[in-house]
Amino acid sequence: MKYFKLYEFDSPDQPGSGKNMQASTLDLLDQCREVAGIPFIITSGHRTASHNQKVGGTENSSHLRGYAVDVECNNSKDRYKIVQSALSVGFNRIGISGSFIHLDNDPAKTPNVIWTY
Ligand SMILES: [Zn+2]
Repeated sequence: MKYFKLYEFDSPDQPGSGKNMQASTLDLLDQCREVAGIPFIITSGHRTASHNQKVGGTENSSHLRGYAVDVECNNSKDRYKIVQSALSVGFNRIGISGSFIHLDNDPAKTPNVIWTY
């Protein structure tokens, strides 16, 4: 990866678990960061089941299998850049909250969806 280190995707309760991220997801994220042209702060990457429960993730969260990342974002201009670049590189599942953007490419779930929290 050009822009990220694997540890940025660790579940906080399990150092080294960033290795459970899917290569396809990290590749899209690196491309997305390149296109967006702004720093990405990863607030959640891989999650262990217990960490997922702690943060209130859904039972079948794509974070559990390494297909999802949350990128910190709390202003409209960066939100536009991130969403636009995510769509352009091929992320097909996007969640938008006031403080982060969830990006995933989980092949087991419905593609081409954008949701809010
Ligand atoms: Zn997420």
